[in-house]
Amino acid sequence: MARKFFVGGNFKMNGSISSITEIVDNLNKAQLDSNVETVISPPALYLLLVREKAKKEIGVASQNVFDKPNGAFTGEISVQHLKDSGIDWTILGHSERRTILGETDEVVASKTKYATENGVSVIWCCGESLEQREAGQTLDVIASQLAALKAKISDWSKIVIAYEPIWAIGTGKVATTEQAQEVHASIREWLAKNVSQTVADETRILYGGSVSEKNCKDLSKQPDIDGFLVGGASLKPAFVDIINCKL
Ligand code: PEP
Repeated sequence: MARKFFVGGNFKMNGSISSITEIVDNLNKAQLDSNVETVISPPALYLLLVREKAKKEIGVASQNVFDKPNGAFTGEISVQHLKDSGIDWTILGHSERRTILGETDEVVASKTKYATENGVSVIWCCGESLEQREAGQTLDVIASQLAALKAKISDWSKIVIAYEPIWAIGTGKVATTEQAQEVHASIREWLAKNVSQTVADETRILYGGSVSEKNCKDLSKQPDIDGFLVGGASLKPAFVDIINCKL
């Protein structure tokens, strides 16, 4: 089964009603490659605004969810509230949540399990720090993040994996096509060995880390790169060029 190219836009904690409306209007007006699945992830407060304004071909993702049903969990984002609002996706395990908010591999896996079992698809992020890369630990770090996920979930059909080397996020320092392809191929190999060949063949693996309209074409030609998770550039008009990088 061919893997549909996927481009996610992570707005992080940026934007305003007026700037986000402008981004969505721009995407609505653009001719987007119909062979690409596009999902944008505004801050929580603007999810409904974006869902109401964006054309239906564009998916919408939260940047977090909690791993419990509704209840006494002040400040958390409910999977059921997302479903009720037509939001079908969430980003989980972003390195900013892992490092700044202290989310462990287990917490991320537990949230992923709860979201996918309750109808919300997940852009599940993994990636190594600069120190880990320099120490030659990249593939081990990714394998242990994947192992923590595998320990909690059995259905991989609602998961898209985003490989995001921490040293490349928001730094302007993009991984080379070879560096990215090497890790993507090893993630696919890990899935084949530890989950199943079908999951390895069908799971989309995105690259994230300083993707721009300038570097996306070369990265997109790598056999194991099935799309991108884009931060900074998703707030700019050039995001359309990244979505259309295969045209
Ligand atoms: C991200 O936040 O997931 C990301 C990859 O950011 P940037 O594109 O700005 O590096």
